[in-house]
Formats: sequence, C-alpha cells, structure tokens
Amino acid sequence: MLDITSILPAKHKRTASGWISFNAVCCEHNGDSRDKRQRGGIKQNGEDWSYHCFNCGYKASFKLGRTLSFKTRKLLSWFGVDQPTIQAMNLESLKRKDMAQLVEDRAKPKIENIQFNDVELPEELRLIEETDTKYVNYLESRAVDPGDYPYMISPDQKGRQAERIVIPYTYEDRIVGYTSRYLDDRKPKFISEQQPGYVFGTDLQQEHWTQAIVVEGIFDALSLNCLALLHNDINDRQARLLKSLRKDITVVPDQDEAGLKLIDRAVELGFAVSIPNWADDVKDVNDAVKRYGRLGTLITIMTARETSKIKIELAKKQLVKRINVKK
Ligand SMILES: [Zn+2]
Repeated sequence: MLDITSILPAKHKRTASGWISFNAVCCEHNGDSRDKRQRGGIKQNGEDWSYHCFNCGYKASFKLGRTLSFKTRKLLSWFGVDQPTIQAMNLESLKRKDMAQLVEDRAKPKIENIQFNDVELPEELRLIEETDTKYVNYLESRAVDPGDYPYMISPDQKGRQAERIVIPYTYEDRIVGYTSRYLDDRKPKFISEQQPGYVFGTDLQQEHWTQAIVVEGIFDALSLNCLALLHNDINDRQARLLKSLRKDITVVPDQDEAGLKLIDRAVELGFAVSIPNWADDVKDVNDAVKRYGRLGTLITIMTARETSKIKIELAKKQLVKRINVKK
C-alpha cells in the first residue's frame, strides 16, 4: 500500500497530537489562495489516514478495505500521485478488505445478529471520475454529489452494461450488493443484486444522529443521507434492522397510491410517519431536495413528523385527497 508520508511535501512537521502538517495542496483547486502557513494536516492510524485542510476546509480519508472516495482520489492527484497508482491503490485496498474486516470485527463486538454476505462487484467497473460528464450530469440532476458516494461505471463496455451507474450497497462498510441505474431510457431503469432484508444507507448515518429517515428509493436516500427500503414495504427483516439502529425512525412515503400502504405498515411497526404538504409535482424526497434543497426538505419532514396513530391517519386522509386531485 502507498505510504502516505512518502508523498508529503519535503517541508513538514509532526505535532504532539499526531498530525503531520505541511502546506496544503488542496486550496488552489477549490478557489482559495495557496496555503503558505502549513495548514494542511495528515493523521495516520495504522495504514488508515485522514487529511484535513484548515485553510479551505477540504477533508478526505483513506481506510483499508474500502474504495477510495472521489475526494481522496482528487487529493492524491494534487499530491502528484498518477492515476494508475491511484487505481492500483483502490484495488489493493479492496483486496485487503477481509483482513481489515477481521481487525474491525475483533474491535467491536456485535450486538445484533444482522449479517449480509459479501458480494463482488462486476470486474469491468471503475470509480466515476469528474470527467465522466454524462454520468456526473445524471447524478447532479438527481441532486446528489458524485463525490459523496463510490459510484461506479463501465463506459468502455459495449451495449446496455455500459450505460449505467452502479451504486454499491454497503452494510458496515462491506459491499453486500449493488444496483445498476441504466441511462439508456429503456426499461427496467434499475436492475439490482440485493439480499433479503437489506436496507440501504445504514453507512450514511452518523453515530451521533438520533433521528433516521426512512424513504422508498435509493436516490431519495442518497440525496438526503436517509435509509432506503428499495421498495414500498417494510419486510420483517428490514424492520428488525431498522430497530437495531436504536434511532428515532421516521418513515417518509412517496406521495402516491403505493405510499399509502407503507404508511399503514409503519404505523403497525410503531414508527413515526411524516407526510409533508409538498407542492403538487413533488412526489418524493428526491423531488423535494431538488425543489427545496437538503435543509428545506429536512425541515418539511421534521415539521410534519407524527407519532400518534390518530394524527398519522388524519395526515394520510389529506394525502389521499391530494393524490385524487392530482389524478
Ligand atoms: Zn485547502
């Protein structure tokens, strides 16, 4: 594995707290002026490391066993690491996943016995780059940042396989499935490799968050760091997984016929439900993020959050009216 300290600028110093500081390499790429006050820092933990710039605020990290994020790859290129080395580093990291996992498993005992099998991603895939315009544009049209998740593509392949963005499904940072969103306007739009009881987005949740929002679709989840059921029901295994998160769960159904059933199921499981009074053409969280932004959407969801069965029933009746008007 590439030793991060070997690519740092010659002029650097180690601080007592374990940071290695040097002139940051990120700022001029982010519209800031070049750092001359050694405000870039790297902290290592075994082979893992994290980078933080106290000048422009850029952050990136590396963790053995995981794919390199868009931001980490950008950072490495600013340090002068070439693309083949970055791709090789990514591959080596993934190959050493099992070992890294073993170390992690010993470090934290599992409380819940919820497990998914590891799944291999198709070999022809590579991580999306900024220059993959067609794919980047699609993600941006869905109000998600292409750098926020390890989106994969296979543009060199011919036919339908190439015209897709592959979104890995992870659970405890291991790849346990994936979905392909095809961009060729043919049906089906999505084809997925999915294990029963899987809920997308558990790895997007921060430990200190007390609330977790549950939505139907993957882009709803990606655009707001939510959990996605990946259909319009909550099966028993998914319910168990959601409860194991020990967070306050709020289910936000799509505002259509299928969403109505999801409301009933959420009530049955004792989850809170939120049915915000969005504009008529906003029918799910992804539409809402496009219209109101992340924070605006979050506010509409938390304001409309109901835990009482009676109030949820009332909100559902209002929704039925709105759906009927739209028809
Ligand atoms: Zn910077």
